[in-house]
Parts: sequence; structure tokens; C-alpha cells
Amino acid sequence: MRDPTFDELFSLLLAVELSADTVVRLREWIAGIAHPVECIALIEQTAVGRPCPHCGCARKHRCGQASGLQRFRCLRCGRSHNALTGTSLARLRKKECWLPYLQCVLESRTVRDTARVVKVHRTTSFRWRHRFVPGAMRDRPATLAAIVEADETYRLESQKGSRRLTRRPRKRGGVATRRGINREHDCLLVARDRSGQTLDFHTGRGQVTTGQLHECLKPVLPADVLLISDGAWSYRHFAARAGITHEAVNVQAGERARGAIHIQNVNGWHSRFKSWLVRFRGVASRYLIHYSGWQRVLDAHRLTTPAHLLCAAVQPG
Ligand SMILES: [Zn+2]
Repeated sequence: MRDPTFDELFSLLLAVELSADTVVRLREWIAGIAHPVECIALIEQTAVGRPCPHCGCARKHRCGQASGLQRFRCLRCGRSHNALTGTSLARLRKKECWLPYLQCVLESRTVRDTARVVKVHRTTSFRWRHRFVPGAMRDRPATLAAIVEADETYRLESQKGSRRLTRRPRKRGGVATRRGINREHDCLLVARDRSGQTLDFHTGRGQVTTGQLHECLKPVLPADVLLISDGAWSYRHFAARAGITHEAVNVQAGERARGAIHIQNVNGWHSRFKSWLVRFRGVASRYLIHYSGWQRVLDAHRLTTPAHLLCAAVQPG
């Protein structure tokens, strides 16, 4: 007996009444299939016209294929490259799994869950997360505009996954040894304008300083913005030094808003970030910026398909 054709199977499937559970299973299955050709074509398209990643020369000739991608040889430096050279995805294998993997990134799945859906090893699932996410999060606005709210959120420093702790281990769900914000806390600075454009910075440990604000915010704030923050002196000093108009909301004294002067949008972002992060059960400090970048990309709703994420990730770093 011959095997049924796809059309025959499909018409059988169409005749079945689908339960909610079956629909979920079908969706998962479909999200997990992609033709390898699709992924390769997207990568090649994104890199069309890109100069040599080693020397910047635009003149090159084709020289065969490797790992499914066209190889080029540069006419100036003589070195070879392909569409992924110099990107965070260079030398990653299993391209047939990349688009399904990125679907899992869009769905904020855990490492374990992603490994199950995409059928890769858990170690691969983890390694890929920290290659694909930094790639995709390069999609960020160059500057913010008009009214910009800025505020920090602090998280207890974490050495999750690290083989050598540089301090005594904490019990699960650990608490800081001292009260208040100190060197045990990672500072995540977020600036968001009223059109929703958002930028995030991991400034390091402890309270944010004027110097750090200057380093992070000065390049992204045009001279004509209005910066709004809480009453922390570092913002006042930074704004004065940078010649930026500044208003402070005295949050500590219970002030929430004075008309349009408030930081509720940026605080809303912080709270969405914190609740989104719960599913990952703690993230290592060194990856904090990857997670905030991931949340920023999802929250911005600009990159909404695996193909969008892939195209952002194959931009050279
Ligand atoms: Zn070159």
C-alpha cells in the first residue's frame, strides 16, 4: 500500500473537529517547522551589498558555498566571509532550527521549554538565547525625543550559573546583607519618551552616579528634550552639566504627578519587566542587559515575527 499524500492527509485533518487542546498542539507543531531554505534566504537577503567585515572594502567575488551560505573573497584583504561573519550568529549550526527558535524567543519560553519545542539540547537552547537576543536587541532607537522619563530599577546581584562565586552563597530568594541600595544591587537605568521609544542601560552595581547618567543618557538626548526623573540629586547634576531642561517628581514625598510631569510610563515599563522576568527564576547579573533588551524588543512590538528577529540579529555588531 502506498503512503498517503500530503493532500489526502490534509483533507482528513480538515474533516476532524479540533478541540482546544488539539489546536494548541497543532500551533506548537507549526511554529516548530520551517524549511531550512527560508532561513538561509533571509540571511542572504539581509546581507546583500554589505562590505567586507574585515576591511570594509565593497569589492569581492564569490568563492563557493559553506554551511549553506554563499562565501565571498574580498578583493582588497583577500580574506573570505559570508553573510554571518562578524554577527552574533557566526558559526552557529542547525539553521533549520533558527526560525522555530526565534518563535520561542517571541513567546518568552524558558530554556527547557524551547529545547523541547525546537528539539535541540538544553545547553544549545541556553547558548543560542545569548546569541540571538543580543543580536535582536540591537534594534534600538538612536535617540529619544521631546519628553523623556528616566528612572532606575535595582536587582540583587546574581552569580547564577557561575562556577566560582566571589562572595558567600545566599539562600534561595536571597536578601541583601544591608538595607537600601548598595554595591550588592545591579542598577538598570531605563529612559522612555512619550512616543514609547525606550532605551535600557546596565550601569553596574550600586546607586546610579552623575557620571554614569552622563555616559548613558547624554548621547541619546537631543538638547531640546525635557528630562523627567525622581528627586535623586544625580539627575539634577547630570541635567545641569549637560545643559538639558529637567523636572523632578518628588516621589519620596508621595508626589505622583504634576500635570504632564511624571515618571509613570517608565515605572510601568519597570513593573512589566519585573513580572515578565519571574518565569526565568532569577537571571545572572552578567546577562541582565540581555533580558532587559529582550523585554524591550517584545514591548516595542516592532519586531513581531521570527523573520524580523533574524534580520535584526544578522546585522553586523
Ligand atoms: Zn576585506
